[in-house]
Amino acid sequence: MKTIAILYCISLLSSTFMTTQVYICGPKGAKKYHLTASCRGLSSCKDATVKVSLSQAENFGLSLCGWED
Ligand SMILES: [Zn+2]
Repeated sequence: MKTIAILYCISLLSSTFMTTQVYICGPKGAKKYHLTASCRGLSSCKDATVKVSLSQAENFGLSLCGWED
């Protein structure tokens, strides 16, 4: 049972890593992406906040918001 639990943890971690989700303003973001939906940079967003994968955000040419660490 222990082995199964460990394997489950590993697959859970790797799938989280593979599909890092970020938040952008509007369907393609303004110019930045955000790591949290409650980011200060998103509070000025007048569009809907959209959740996309990190690789998608990078495909849009977005960079990490200046408010993030
Ligand atoms: Zn941000």
